[in-house]
Amino acid sequence: MPQVTAERLAELIKTMCRRSGSAEREAQLVADHLVAANLSGHDSHGVGMMPAYIAAVREDRLRPNTVATVALDSGPFLVVDGNGGYGQVVAHEAIERAIAKARVEGLCLMALRNAHHIGRIGHWGELCAAAGFISIHYVNAISHRAVVAPHGGADARFVTNPYCTAIPAMDGEPPVILDFATSLIAMGKVRVAHNKGEAVPEGALIDADGRPTRDPGVMFAEPRGALRSMGQQKGYGLALVCDILAGALSGGGTFLPERLARNTIINNMLAIVLDPARFGEIGAIGAEMAAFQHWVRASPPAPGVERVMLPGEPERRSRAERLARGVPVDARTWEELVATAAGIGIGRAEFERIAGHGGSGAAHA
Ligand code: NAD
Repeated sequence: MPQVTAERLAELIKTMCRRSGSAEREAQLVADHLVAANLSGHDSHGVGMMPAYIAAVREDRLRPNTVATVALDSGPFLVVDGNGGYGQVVAHEAIERAIAKARVEGLCLMALRNAHHIGRIGHWGELCAAAGFISIHYVNAISHRAVVAPHGGADARFVTNPYCTAIPAMDGEPPVILDFATSLIAMGKVRVAHNKGEAVPEGALIDADGRPTRDPGVMFAEPRGALRSMGQQKGYGLALVCDILAGALSGGGTFLPERLARNTIINNMLAIVLDPARFGEIGAIGAEMAAFQHWVRASPPAPGVERVMLPGEPERRSRAERLARGVPVDARTWEELVATAAGIGIGRAEFERIAGHGGSGAAHA
């Protein structure tokens, strides 16, 4: 598998953004976000998203250089409209505004609507945590087709609605970044299993009649099956709440059939950003949080487990490793990127020169 350095990968994405119409800052934000997702180990939300983004630009469903606008600003409440712009840009603007308001008010309840795909939600939690704030993110998504069934249902009614809570570093402990999709496995993982002819884990899918199946093919042929929520009724409930809080409160909309559109992924998000110092003496709060994390982490590892980790730790480990060794890009993603680049005037030779790589497995980074 090709290993590409984060710098070269970012340069590649920046070039692709620029050639498809983005100004420099937008290109930088998109590249930084996607490469950070790869570095964090979440390849499903990394540079492999670029072909979908460029397809959306081509169909005028994603407009380069669109900025967010404030639809409501009242006390701690903020509603930001992403106007269908790059999620990496409009969510960045929205989160920066929410942090600025939380500095003044102690908290901000920010609803972002109508943003194109905002990627890995942990990225936004990390921004809040780095500024010293706790943040809670409920996100819904509207794309061309439902893929997740409600608990007990036999067909798909929504998508993989992600949830995130971020706690800043306190008292020598690193930040806690809890960030996950509410389906048992990501749609990207079903695609990989399908391409390899492998079965998916038990409990992940149902077929078109609502019966459990391990065959990923049910997601790629009519009549289609559906993904199941993680944690049975609990994950289902969380996914439902994400659609209601992010979709209905923001005005961006829940996953209703009339909103589905081809070649686009729209995200809405409710973010609650809190200043922990407003709850009492910050030293004592930080010490309590840190003591608890220390206590939990000290649990003896179960057989086959190296050590107990806290949410956010796998991503930090991945970042350290991939920054040192490069980001592995699978052959399929590589060829999709090459084809997408060709469509916007970046030939294979230029692509490989920027990537410092021919895609054959030998990096020249
Ligand atoms: P996942 O199943 O890998 O879960 C990730 C969470 O679990 C992280 O908080 C991680 O730190 C924690 N974790 C993992 N292993 C751990 C361990 N051994 N001990 C302790 N904590 C551990 O993530 P996922 O559900 O596949 O989601 C992947 C990404 O996809 C997320 O970043 C999510 O935001 C993103 N996503 C985005 C959208 C969108 O519409 N924008 C939709 C779905 C998912």
